[in-house]
Amino acid sequence: MTTTKSLTSNAKSVNEERLELVINATGVGVWDWQVQTGELTFNQRWAEIIGYSVHELQPMTYETWASNLHPDDLAVAKDKLEKHWSGELDLYEVEVRMRHKRLHYVWILTSGKVVEWQKNGKPKRMLGTHLDITERKERERERIIAGQLLQESQKIAKVGGWELNLETGLLYWTAETYRIHEALPEEFDPTVDAGVDYFLPASREIITKALDEAVNNGVGYDLELETLTTKGRKIDVRTTCNVTKKNGIAVCLTGIFQDISNEKAIQRNLEEANAALQLSAHYDPLTELPNRVLLSDRMQQAMTKSVRHAQSVAIAFIDLDGFKEINDSYGHDVGDEFLRKIARELKYSLREGDTLARIGGDEFVAVMDEFSEPKDSHTILARMLEAASVELVILGRPLKVSASIGVTFYPQNNSSPDQLLRCADQAMYRAKQLGKNRWHLFDVEEDVALKNKHEELERLRLALQNQEFTLFYQPKIDLRSKEVIGLEALIRWDHPERGILAPAAFLPVLDQDVLSIEVGEWVIKSALKQLNSWRLTPMDVPISVNISPLQLQHTDFVFRLERMIEEFPLFSPNSLEFEILESSALKNIELVSGVIRECDRLGVTFAIDDFGTGYSSLTYLKRLPAEYLKIDQSFVREMLTDTDNLAIIQGIIELSKAFDLKVIAEGVETPLHGETLESLGCFFAQGYGVAKPMPANDFPEWLSLWNDNPQLVDGTL
Ligand code: C2E
Ligand code: MG
Ligand code: MG
Repeated sequence: MTTTKSLTSNAKSVNEERLELVINATGVGVWDWQVQTGELTFNQRWAEIIGYSVHELQPMTYETWASNLHPDDLAVAKDKLEKHWSGELDLYEVEVRMRHKRLHYVWILTSGKVVEWQKNGKPKRMLGTHLDITERKERERERIIAGQLLQESQKIAKVGGWELNLETGLLYWTAETYRIHEALPEEFDPTVDAGVDYFLPASREIITKALDEAVNNGVGYDLELETLTTKGRKIDVRTTCNVTKKNGIAVCLTGIFQDISNEKAIQRNLEEANAALQLSAHYDPLTELPNRVLLSDRMQQAMTKSVRHAQSVAIAFIDLDGFKEINDSYGHDVGDEFLRKIARELKYSLREGDTLARIGGDEFVAVMDEFSEPKDSHTILARMLEAASVELVILGRPLKVSASIGVTFYPQNNSSPDQLLRCADQAMYRAKQLGKNRWHLFDVEEDVALKNKHEELERLRLALQNQEFTLFYQPKIDLRSKEVIGLEALIRWDHPERGILAPAAFLPVLDQDVLSIEVGEWVIKSALKQLNSWRLTPMDVPISVNISPLQLQHTDFVFRLERMIEEFPLFSPNSLEFEILESSALKNIELVSGVIRECDRLGVTFAIDDFGTGYSSLTYLKRLPAEYLKIDQSFVREMLTDTDNLAIIQGIIELSKAFDLKVIAEGVETPLHGETLESLGCFFAQGYGVAKPMPANDFPEWLSLWNDNPQLVDGTL
């Protein structure tokens, strides 16, 4: 062991040696300072603390010591020395930094005491120790930094802390808790009561209960509440509480106190945005009218209300007539703008509390309540029709549609909202069928009929696909020569279960449906095929085909007919004749006479069927360029017994002469009918008295029999 000069120069006593051992064991540096001469001696540990060996530091004086001290600490150290020397401090003790051999500073706690005084009262010798306190200092610094960090992070997170000592009643707030409350520790003394008072009433009630629970039952909490700062600003806070218990009794409450105003504001914004989104889920973006979702809600409300007030709700299904054409001819932008404007018009035609919803392309639904009686709604319905047919100018173009409206009333129609809509829709469909631009009231019987009709139509569609239709042919003769002048093709349904069905059993269903056009084309094609197969045989006679009014008025009727005829190069002009009903010919005389003229160009002639039942005026007859008038069988059948009918037949015959038309009688059932007609000047006949309608395959045989013996028979038998 190395010792300093002074400590080793004298012979050591046992005591001294023991002391030295202790000193070395404790790691304490020891110094011995001759204040007067400045000579400073020390032990090895003293030198080691600052990285040296004893020899390296020799000679050590007060000056060299001072020069190794951190500049900031010298003054402090000197001050302490003065105070000790003056007797003010019993012990000289100071924490200083000394430069280490490797140039960093080492914290040292140096303490010492004057052990010898000069006669003049000044110190002569001082003894003391050096203790390396670097580590302790480091820890202290870390603690301070950590403390500062905590404060800082609390500030950033806006999380404060609090502690309530239940034994002393003392409440402690961290700096951030003060900041959250906009209070200063030096001005505000937190107490439980004061803290609670700042909460808004509803929150105060909650926190009071929660605190009570914590104190008395040891139950913690985690709450989001509203409070005021000391400056009266409202903030949202989260406050939690943990309970520390001793022997089962709460002794201390600790928790955080967090300003969550921002988060709450974001949450509120989100909730608002959500509500806005909900709103958009209920409205049609194009017209800003309620959509289907909101509609069913409004219907439900109106229905509930109507029951309470014993009133009626009208549900009107509105479909625009002719909107598709606008869309098709001017594009979707114009279409959209048109819808926006028409929606506004419709909305204005309703009353304040009524709902107008858009549920599809050009489909709207109006829910109107508070009618004492259904008929009270008629004025509004009329107003809606008017509104829908207002002329609107879009991009400089005047555009106009109309509306078909179907209406049903609740509770008269005591159905669910969905069913009510379906009923109104059904009625709207009827309004369309009845000619559009009108409203139609839903009718249960009509609904059932429509449903059945729908099913039957489906069955007929299938029949067409499965080729269950067939044509029967009924001969027409010249009463004078008994020559067969033609055949009328009459449709039959060869039903797999019900057998051969006459047109009366299924044509009325087809009547208004587009399927009748397809069936009609099938008839024309089949007749053409038949003509083709009998061409240049004895059976080669003109065939007449009945044309339904719908088919006749179809826009490309002539065009399609031309295509069909083209398929049969052997087709000879005037071998095909169309029979059209007098009533349908009259309804649209312009169009029909046009069609007749065009068909004439194709070599197809016309007969006016069931003539006499449609009350044609002379002027009309003049304008219809037909070849034949076909006297309705009801007159023919009665002509022998009823003079009125006979007179009518005579009239028709006169008329046909005047307009240079041929006339044929149908329903000629007996030879007497034939003779009478011939005598009246009607030379052509068709009826059971000649032959009943027959399958095409039977015609060759019938014809040869007829040619052998061309005599009318009694067809009533
Ligand atoms: P329609 O064009 O006036 O045809 C004459 C109808 O009178 C036929 O009935 C025929 O069988 C029946 N009939 C002919 N002579 C006599 C007779 O002496 N006594 C009696 N009691 N009846 C006689 P059918 O075949 O039942 O046809 C009924 C109606 O169905 C036709 O009347 C025609 O308007 C329509 N029809 C028939 N086939 C077609 C078709 O292919 N297309 C269209 N659109 N309608 C058709
Ligand atoms: Mg006919
Ligand atoms: Mg007829």
